[in-house]
Amino acid sequence: MLTLYNSLTRAAEPFTPVHPGEARVYSCGPTVYNYPHIGNMRAYVFADVLGRTLSWKGYKLTHVINITDVGHLTDDADAGEDKMEKMARVQAQSIWDIARHYTEAYWADIKALNVRQPAKWSIATDYVPQMIDFAKSIAERHCYELESGLYFDTATVADYGRLARSVTDEGESRIDPVAGKRNAADFAIWRKTPPGESRQMEWDSPWGRGAPGWHLECSVMSGDLLGFPFDIHTGGIDHREIHHPNEIAQNQAFCCTNGLDVPANSGARVWMHNNFLVERSGKMSKSTGEFLRLQLLIDRGFHPLAYRLMCLQAHYRSELEFSWDNLAAALTRLKRMLIAAERLRDAEPVAGEHPKLAPMLAAFDAAISDDLNTPLALTALEDVLAAKKVDAGVKRAMVERMDAVLGLDLLGKTREDLRLRPKVAGIGEGEIEAALERRKVARAEKDFAASDALRDELAVQGVEVMDGDPLGWEWKLA
Ligand code: AMP
Ligand code: ZN
Repeated sequence: MLTLYNSLTRAAEPFTPVHPGEARVYSCGPTVYNYPHIGNMRAYVFADVLGRTLSWKGYKLTHVINITDVGHLTDDADAGEDKMEKMARVQAQSIWDIARHYTEAYWADIKALNVRQPAKWSIATDYVPQMIDFAKSIAERHCYELESGLYFDTATVADYGRLARSVTDEGESRIDPVAGKRNAADFAIWRKTPPGESRQMEWDSPWGRGAPGWHLECSVMSGDLLGFPFDIHTGGIDHREIHHPNEIAQNQAFCCTNGLDVPANSGARVWMHNNFLVERSGKMSKSTGEFLRLQLLIDRGFHPLAYRLMCLQAHYRSELEFSWDNLAAALTRLKRMLIAAERLRDAEPVAGEHPKLAPMLAAFDAAISDDLNTPLALTALEDVLAAKKVDAGVKRAMVERMDAVLGLDLLGKTREDLRLRPKVAGIGEGEIEAALERRKVARAEKDFAASDALRDELAVQGVEVMDGDPLGWEWKLA
């Protein structure tokens, strides 16, 4: 049995699919006005592990991730400027070029992190006619028009804000720039282009020329592609507060259903949220010069899969603190796993149970089925890698099975693949010599874990240790 934590009920629940044997999942995708930071990518590693787990459990998975290329304002709560329009203005480029460039950059990160391709990438601007139809169908009973656009009246649906729990209080205290709204939490589902202004992206609608609201997009694409109700909707924990309560309100209005005591009324039965990746010095913020992009990690010599492993080492509902040390530790761990897996690569996989591996398989399944406990699942996989006196083919088949869920590509990558050249070496000669001295001591004491860790730390700083170099060189800058 698979148990998943549903943010809507704040409880772990057994997963029961809407359509027997199937799992339909929608994940809120990135707003492609800038490069994603690695915190954003945590959201997709989480959604990927969820999808892989559903496949592991035998469900036929249909996963949709959207690309938001219109409508997301600089403030989630309906204020500010469209992020895309703003970036296009700042970079003096066409908004379509901006969208294409950053969508491709996001897809490159997805691939590097071994996130499986969803069944569909839905692009928001491809769905504008459907958004207008959706809005038309709820406008009369649930919306009202102001000069600036069409607004959703949150008082017209039962249990508004249940997902957030605190939204009403927040709504009251939020500074609300739109005059005439009936309730502070009401939100635009269509935003008219102000008179005398023009947008690069705008469409005609019964409420004037303008652009759809961000919340409308996700309701429309998820409903269109997966059918209401579908199984699981995912996003980062910030979406639990505004974006998803608003989607739920629209879905309720559209489906003509009432209160949220019946889970199906919210459009998706289960709402899941990953917690944040945090970084103390604020390097995650895209508004400060250099921010934590996957490419920055690569430039510093860290393979993207080390970041994936770092994500898996924490439960998705826990906050995860980023540090270079944590990342270096994850890289070392990944390397150990890869080295153990290398020995299995040439073996012909032999499927079937093995008495030695059976408890590990049971532990793995129990962990991943318990609301995706990846930290525990990882140790079960490591136990398989370390198992003695088990035929290589049997072991290989088991590693393949487990790694199909965790996605570390253990049988596809080699240790050479993990060795990336850092762009800049950030270490002086004295420090290098001192580290090598410590390493010699560790090796003399046969503490190979410590000696490997020292070598990896040096590698991260751009120094390659040259064991057994015929010219007797001990190290070089990579
Ligand atoms: P955005 O492009 O801003 O719409 O965000 C894309 C996804 O990343 C959403 O699911 C967000 O909730 C999620 N997200 C944003 N910041 C973080 C973070 N620091 N850690 C984890 N997820 C995040
Ligand atoms: Zn969304």
